[in-house]
Amino acid sequence: MPSLSMEQRMLEINSIIENRAFDDDRLVYSFVLHLYSNQEIDECIGFVTAKLNAVKDEYRLYYHLWYVSLLYLRGFFDEAKTIFYSLPINDIPNNIKTFYMITLGFDALYRDFIVMETEHFVFHIHPNRYRNQNDIHHKITRRELGYEIVAKNFFGLSLERKIHYFLWDDESMKPYFSNSQTCSCYGVIQEGEYDRDWHESTHVYNYLYGIENPKSFILEGLAVLYDGKTSIVRLKYARAAYQSLRIAPHIKEWWLDPVAFRQTNSWIAYTTAGYFLFKLRSLYGKEKLLQLAKYQTFEDACRIYGDAEISKLISEVEEEISNLGTGNP
Ligand SMILES: [Zn+2]
Repeated sequence: MPSLSMEQRMLEINSIIENRAFDDDRLVYSFVLHLYSNQEIDECIGFVTAKLNAVKDEYRLYYHLWYVSLLYLRGFFDEAKTIFYSLPINDIPNNIKTFYMITLGFDALYRDFIVMETEHFVFHIHPNRYRNQNDIHHKITRRELGYEIVAKNFFGLSLERKIHYFLWDDESMKPYFSNSQTCSCYGVIQEGEYDRDWHESTHVYNYLYGIENPKSFILEGLAVLYDGKTSIVRLKYARAAYQSLRIAPHIKEWWLDPVAFRQTNSWIAYTTAGYFLFKLRSLYGKEKLLQLAKYQTFEDACRIYGDAEISKLISEVEEEISNLGTGNP
């Protein structure tokens, strides 16, 4: 659960706006820091609407953007978009503008997207994707099943608001996103043609569950572990990647250093992280894995599982993976 009180959080955002610390997209993220429940968002909306008429002119735009974010989070997509377009667009810094228009979906390029709402998702589907009705139907059924298995059964969540899921045509996505992109705090997923199944939505659920100190190795490992594929399929990918690239696993280094993790071939780094968490879950169960989902540093893991257990498992998994690389059983 959130560690700051609502009042502290609103003051924090206030001070970001009034100290003009909004020359990067920290502003848009800070708007929604730790806002989980609809009740909290409503309180925040009350605070912002009261402020809107009283703030100095120079801050007004940013209070309006804050308001847009809150409406979006509350599920009022059209209202949020209308207010966004009533603002002096040219005064909004480009990166913040891009965030609202492209990532959250306000841009005119989404005009032809078909909107389909299900119990836990709002799908925005590119017309080219929409033509393949079987694929769309399959995808929607899978995402709802993923909600049941990952959000509800694993994380124990009940969502108060729907996740916005944008399904792109691959070519048209390229100028904006390299492949898939998730903005966990807004519950927004952008997905290209390559099917990530439950990977991206697991990031959103993990955020909603609560993360004190995110580490890429654990974040991505969990998303791989709960991506809806079987461990055998993942090991097959890992084997092929290790055999062709001849990279040795460096679990502790990838865990401590997110840059090293991201610079390693993703078939290798991601699958290894997923496999490591698979082993942790098999050996020590779901409750401890949930603690790790919240407290993700290497030190946290040593506290949760014990220093010796973590070191031993790292050596075992690295040895097992090295054998994959040489083709030994
Ligand atoms: Zn991911």
